[in-house]
Amino acid sequence: MAKPSSEAQAMSAVPMDGAVQARSEFPEQPMVDVMSGASRITRQVLDHGFVALVDCMPRLAPAGKTADAAIVQAARVSYGEGTKQVNEDRGLIRYLLRHRHTTPFEMVEFKFHIAMPMFVARQWIRHRTANVNEYSARYSIVPDRFYRPTAESVRAQSASNRQGGDGLVDAGTAQDFLLLLDRAEALYKDYMSLTEKGVARELARAALPVSVYTEWYWKCDLHNLFHFLSLRMDSHAQYEIRVFAEAMYELIKPIVPLSCEAFVDYRLGAMHLTRLEIDAIRAGVPIATTNKREIAEFEEKCLRLGITPPRDAR
Ligand SMILES: Cc1cc2nc3c(=O)[nH]c(=O)nc-3n(C[C@H](O)[C@H](O)[C@H](O)COP(=O)(O)OP(=O)(O)OC[C@H]3O[C@@H](n4cnc5c(N)ncnc54)[C@H](O)[C@@H]3O)c2cc1C
Repeated sequence: MAKPSSEAQAMSAVPMDGAVQARSEFPEQPMVDVMSGASRITRQVLDHGFVALVDCMPRLAPAGKTADAAIVQAARVSYGEGTKQVNEDRGLIRYLLRHRHTTPFEMVEFKFHIAMPMFVARQWIRHRTANVNEYSARYSIVPDRFYRPTAESVRAQSASNRQGGDGLVDAGTAQDFLLLLDRAEALYKDYMSLTEKGVARELARAALPVSVYTEWYWKCDLHNLFHFLSLRMDSHAQYEIRVFAEAMYELIKPIVPLSCEAFVDYRLGAMHLTRLEIDAIRAGVPIATTNKREIAEFEEKCLRLGITPPRDAR
């Protein structure tokens, strides 16, 4: 008979009767649910949209602390937690965020249920680090929900930014636009009747406008959520996605208040200066570029800093 290998011998040393058991440990101090026992915390957004926080990790935090504790715990894995006070946690979180020590922020996760117009979903889905499950318009009928701005909020095309809106159109033009939306929404009746006649839902949906609402579950860790929020809460993001990002921020703020405070101080409210911009400010001379957009961005930053932008005297 062949001699068993050392690996087979090692495996046979593990009892098969369940003698090797998992050991449960329980917290020394009381724990609290960071969502206060809620199964869902919802904020309405736009006319038919919403963002609902449906779960998070960690769900439990030591009494008197928040889910920020999971970030601190991960960062201190090398040293042991010891008996740290909340204000020390705050200092550590602020240090980590300021110095882009990002992995501890990945220890916190949020799961949202969101309803948003299809054109917002198109922008949102570009954020690849989340886990997404979307409503299937192949499987189910698309509900009759369409986004409509109010007549008073129809934006005009920006003259300076080809990608954005700026100011408002006149009342007559706004009315024309709403009439166009009426015609687009009227297609829904035909969508319904043709699916009833047997056209496949997966094909019939091709006739629906991008103002129709879709829904998904969206789960993301805090590091990548902050990246999403820094891009989509920014004034350059389209209004219709910005309001969703702001609602998400408001939902997570009570759960990770220390991280949110640091995020606002060091990311959202911060400003990046290029080497050219630093050189120009230090020397008090115009920025060394002929690129009009770069010059405009520099002037905008100078105004934020309370400095008169150095201009070319020629
Ligand atoms: C104001 C604004 C205007 C925009 N305009 C346009 C436009 O005109 N056209 C257009 O197509 N898009 C546009 N976008 C989308 C933009 O280009 C990004 O796709 C989107 O913001 C997602 O950014 P991200 O890749 O950093 O984020 P995520 O996908 O969330 O990724 C987060 C980070 O993970 C890393 N990462 C993720 N996946 C990969 C990967 N596969 N390889 C390497 N690194 C990875 C990167 O470091 C990335 O920054 C716009 C975005 C904004 C905010």
